[in-house]
Amino acid sequence: MNKILLIEDSQMISRALSSNISKELDVEVDSAYTLAEAKARLATTHDYFAALVDLTLPDAPDGEALDEVLQWHIPAIVMTASFSEEKRDELLERGLVDYIIKDSKTSFNYVVSLLRRLYLNQFISVLVVEDSFTGMQFVTKQLKRWLLTVHEAADGVEALTILNQHPEIKMVLADYHMPVMNGMELVKALREKRDKEDLAIIGISAINEKSLSARFIKYGANDFLTKPFAPEELQCRINHNLETLELLSKLREMTYRDYLTQLFNRRYLFEKVEKQFRSAKSAGQPISLCVMDIDHFKRINDSYGHHAGDQVLQMVSALFMEHFPDCITFRLGGEEFGLITFNIPFEIALSRIEQFRIDLKDTPMNLGHPVYINASFGVTDELTDRLDEMLQAADRLLYLAKQQGRDRICTNTE
Ligand code: GH3
Ligand code: MG
Ligand code: MG
Ligand code: MG
Repeated sequence: MNKILLIEDSQMISRALSSNISKELDVEVDSAYTLAEAKARLATTHDYFAALVDLTLPDAPDGEALDEVLQWHIPAIVMTASFSEEKRDELLERGLVDYIIKDSKTSFNYVVSLLRRLYLNQFISVLVVEDSFTGMQFVTKQLKRWLLTVHEAADGVEALTILNQHPEIKMVLADYHMPVMNGMELVKALREKRDKEDLAIIGISAINEKSLSARFIKYGANDFLTKPFAPEELQCRINHNLETLELLSKLREMTYRDYLTQLFNRRYLFEKVEKQFRSAKSAGQPISLCVMDIDHFKRINDSYGHHAGDQVLQMVSALFMEHFPDCITFRLGGEEFGLITFNIPFEIALSRIEQFRIDLKDTPMNLGHPVYINASFGVTDELTDRLDEMLQAADRLLYLAKQQGRDRICTNTE
């Protein structure tokens, strides 16, 4: 779901919020200025993943709009002009996701970050491990309210089984006291398989067991919570840990991509593809490796400048990815690129490379005016012990293609 319902009677606030949200998130915002409008929207649109609700509207002075939204089981974020402890308790009791006080630009930014979190949570699964029924209920109720998919386990052993069945689970909340296998033993067992960057674990212990929290961390938990905790505290820890996971995965993605072209880089090839290479080989799958080098690329730089050269590299890469979305395409460096195909018969791989060679030379590179280029290719399907040996073989064939006059493919089979 990718829509937000914004219920706010002030046109100014509504417009400001709406533009802030659309600038930052790829979601649609529907604005309602009265309870009547909100009701009409809710009755006809069924893909709201969240609603922003003003508690005082001309036709709903006492939070009636919140009740309306909650009736539809849509996560609600309340906007209020003032704050008190009693109001907070009452709002949380009614089952909203969060409340903000409309007093500054900061609170608008907070709303946007909250909505981003809710949006992403729709695709995230978490596991709660807790033997007490009420403890479990308190936590899962909140997590579901924040749109996370929740799995439940009553002890460590059950938790391990569920994690095996659901490798997509990104976070585990583990209580310490449990029968069969306690929280600490569970953390230890989990860390044998999945590291901190891949699975976040939050250990939960009681207030009178302070040393447990430190031990949770030592055994490999990312964070801990001390019982009893407020819903806001739980939310904060969860958001913080999910954001860290997302940042780390973005970082990892960046280290494996070439900055200019967004193709994979050499490092990806040897850290990730090498493994795939070995298992494809032992499974008896055909593997083809192709190395491509743009012909007389130096002339592009010399005639049009380095920036134009960069643009050509980007255009070639885009075309390359378009032709081989099902294969691994990478930039080896400079104007040299590579392609590895798994489980595609060699003749088919070759004919697709030939189509690419022709398409590349026929495609005008747009540098203000059309510029045409071509490239040479070395392709091999002769399996070697290691991937880099296969790469060297393809490189020798590429050299041959250059020697024979460029704009051609040389293979190990001719
Ligand atoms: P050949 O047909 O023999 O491959 O000739 P060539 O000119 O393509 O090969 P050469 O190795 O002589 O020159 C490659 C040029 O590519 C030189 C280098 O400045 C340029 N180059 C390498 N990396 C980049 C880059 O990231 N951006 C730009 N604009 N140019 C690059
Ligand atoms: Mg109002
Ligand atoms: Mg070249
Ligand atoms: Mg070169």
